[in-house]
Amino acid sequence: MIFLKTEHEIDLLRESNQLVGKTLCELAKIIRPGITTLYLDQIAEEFIRDNKAIPGFLGYNGFPYTLCVSVNENVVHGFPSNYVLKDGDVVSIDCGTILNGYYGDSAYTFCVGEVDSQVMKLLKTTKESLYLGIEKAVEGNRIGDIGHAIQTYCESNGYSVVRELVGHGVGRKMHEDPEVPNYGRSGSGPLLKKGMVIAIEPMICLGKRQIVIENDGWTVRTKDRLPAAHFEHTIAIGSKKAEILSSFEFLEKELGDRAI
Ligand code: MG
Ligand code: MG
Repeated sequence: MIFLKTEHEIDLLRESNQLVGKTLCELAKIIRPGITTLYLDQIAEEFIRDNKAIPGFLGYNGFPYTLCVSVNENVVHGFPSNYVLKDGDVVSIDCGTILNGYYGDSAYTFCVGEVDSQVMKLLKTTKESLYLGIEKAVEGNRIGDIGHAIQTYCESNGYSVVRELVGHGVGRKMHEDPEVPNYGRSGSGPLLKKGMVIAIEPMICLGKRQIVIENDGWTVRTKDRLPAAHFEHTIAIGSKKAEILSSFEFLEKELGDRAI
């Protein structure tokens, strides 16, 4: 069942999602070769709690951390760990919050030091595809229009689209209906209506789209061990244009020319 949100609920969702954007900015300040991914997690948890919110992922279906930190061939749901970031790594950081009972959910793939130009192009294309998907997220279109825009753009650039993991509705629960695949046929799927709030999150692979789940039961990585990229915004469907409730503005200002 798809819950349509009131203006007031969208205000609350905006607050929670803006806090995710600010948390990602705190991470942008410290991400560099030599730090552990667990340190990123500690900083994020502290910042979220200092802002009177609760980490949205911690304890979700038993997930043990505040962040999903997925390095290089890891696509999503990676565990923060004692792994020390090194020059050339790409790191998807996915962050969730609960503020006033509503979820925030957004992800960005960061570069650590100097990243291979081929991998950098994957990141740029994935981020661009997210915005192409958002352009389709208007009243009267269908869910399939979003996925179709993402898929055709990424595949035309030679990349592949993960099928097993999809975007989702966001509200009082982190994962609500509808599912938002990053692939599909235009004109298919549920009709988009004003008041729907969804997370769009392309997960795009440099090589083949097949994935495996690691022994920790969570970490999703590419089977061919080539890098993947992941960008996510939570948005509210509008009549002419979607409103992006989360934000990369804080972190990209911090990153300057290291932004994707
Ligand atoms: Mg997320
Ligand atoms: Mg999500």
